[in-house]
Amino acid sequence: MRVLLVEDEPDLGKAIDRTLKQEKYTVDWAQDGREAWEYLESQWMEYTLAIFDWLLPGLSGLELLQRLRTKNSTLPVLMLTAKDRMEDKVAGLDAGADDYLVKPFGMAELLARLRALQRRSPQIQPQQIQIGNLILDCGSRTVNKLDRSGKNQTIPLTNKEFQLLEYLMKHPNQIVTTDRIRNQIWEANADTFSNVVAAQVRLLRRKLEAAGCANLIETVHGVGYRMRKGEGENI
Ligand code: CA
Repeated sequence: MRVLLVEDEPDLGKAIDRTLKQEKYTVDWAQDGREAWEYLESQWMEYTLAIFDWLLPGLSGLELLQRLRTKNSTLPVLMLTAKDRMEDKVAGLDAGADDYLVKPFGMAELLARLRALQRRSPQIQPQQIQIGNLILDCGSRTVNKLDRSGKNQTIPLTNKEFQLLEYLMKHPNQIVTTDRIRNQIWEANADTFSNVVAAQVRLLRRKLEAAGCANLIETVHGVGYRMRKGEGENI
């Protein structure tokens, strides 16, 4: 899942960026409002969540939010603000913020708010995705293999492997292009080599095979990949 973080305070931005990455989110971090708008204008469809600081150079968080909503985007937005005056909260919510957090806040609280936004988000359903005997839990960010006795065996995945699998499982039986995967999983300004997606798919397949889940990810040569899901399987 990809998050746009807009925060101009370097220390706080760095701390949030690091926390989100530890939680297996992909993060684009913009430090001023105009830069954030460039991300949003070109690729708001790619984001699952956004975090806007209120006071920013360039465009304020409120202006960003207003611009976003005039494009009819339903992207869930959490506002960060040092202001706790009631009229500011109301202005933010009126402009289409989904929630707000008053600074200073703890990272655990930030993560809890983001999880709550994901649950409400129309773009993110359901909490668990099952394909074959593989169960991916979007809340706890874990992947389990269900064995015959009904027990779950957790498959240890790196952040990128998890994100890749999550994206594929959310688009079962669809061809997803290599570029789309790259846009979804790597930061916009990441210095990625050309076959980084293929390399990541190879690593993921190896782990799935080791857990006894082979042949789930099909290569569509020259185009991308497809997650196989049989008829009648639950999702
Ligand atoms: Ca600020």
